[in-house]
Amino acid sequence: MSYSRAVFEEAMQKLESRREKALAEAHALRQRMVLQYPRLLEIEQALADTGMKLSKAILAGGDIRETVRSIQTENEALQQEMAGILQKAGETAVNFEPKPVCALCHDTGYHHGKTCSCLIQLMKELSSRQICKGLTDTPARFEDLDLSFYDDTPTGHGLSPRERMRRVFDFCRQYAENFDLTVPSLLLRGPTGTGKTHLSLAIASAAAEAGYQVMYQPAGRLFSMLEKEHFGRESGNTEELAMTCDLLVLDDLGTEFETSFCTASLYSIINTRLLDRLPTVISTNLTQEGLQDRYGDQIVSRITGAFEPLLFVGKDIRQQKRERQMTEHR
Ligand SMILES: [Zn+2]
Repeated sequence: MSYSRAVFEEAMQKLESRREKALAEAHALRQRMVLQYPRLLEIEQALADTGMKLSKAILAGGDIRETVRSIQTENEALQQEMAGILQKAGETAVNFEPKPVCALCHDTGYHHGKTCSCLIQLMKELSSRQICKGLTDTPARFEDLDLSFYDDTPTGHGLSPRERMRRVFDFCRQYAENFDLTVPSLLLRGPTGTGKTHLSLAIASAAAEAGYQVMYQPAGRLFSMLEKEHFGRESGNTEELAMTCDLLVLDDLGTEFETSFCTASLYSIINTRLLDRLPTVISTNLTQEGLQDRYGDQIVSRITGAFEPLLFVGKDIRQQKRERQMTEHR
């Protein structure tokens, strides 16, 4: 997977601040220790002297093996003494060298000319945080859905709206609890205010908490981002993320501005994800015919062929809540 320029730059910035932090910590440690143990200053000086002695010996030429060996012994002894003092003072460091987070690339992001695994990891985290942004704004839990808002009177088909919704609810909760990349895609269909957004957010949150890369977007926002990036008004890789993330939750499909661009994007995202066997959850107020009218047979046949339908019923919960509040205040 490739990452956007913004993600790369943010990751490189993080590495830079790691290097700065390591440098500042090493500096602070030195300041603290030399005040308490002036002998450390002498050791530092002596270590620098062994370096000088070595260069001189090499410049002088001749058989210098004995000299080199004795300088090395002296150097090791000094280093050990320094480590001993620091250890006695309760420090974990053995010298005043900066300690990088990544021992492979020393927090430069590159190791033997290749991108280091620490940089890849950072970009992965940043990009996953970026796509989960929509989730943290509005966390949703299954427990918060109040089934008392659904009518308990059985309808002509037998089940009451409450019983029907209890089944939908249980299905969604199990789907989220057992979420992995083999689960089917879902189509949450039903009138406004019947809990589709709530349950699709709860599924998205649960999958994200389980460590999956989840993208949750209301259709209006997703398509407007795609459009801006497609026409070069903004940079980003939303389309690639929507196609490759572990779970895409597309909320309120049909409320976006109607353009041929949206229809084409929707088709290529759904199709790519189906081919790659990645689950998608779509919620919509549109009926089967409404979907057909708006997006055409090609998209609708892909959806009906591969998505498990869940029918939401009931009266608008937001409106009922407002009505309850009004009666309370009367
Ligand atoms: Zn590294």
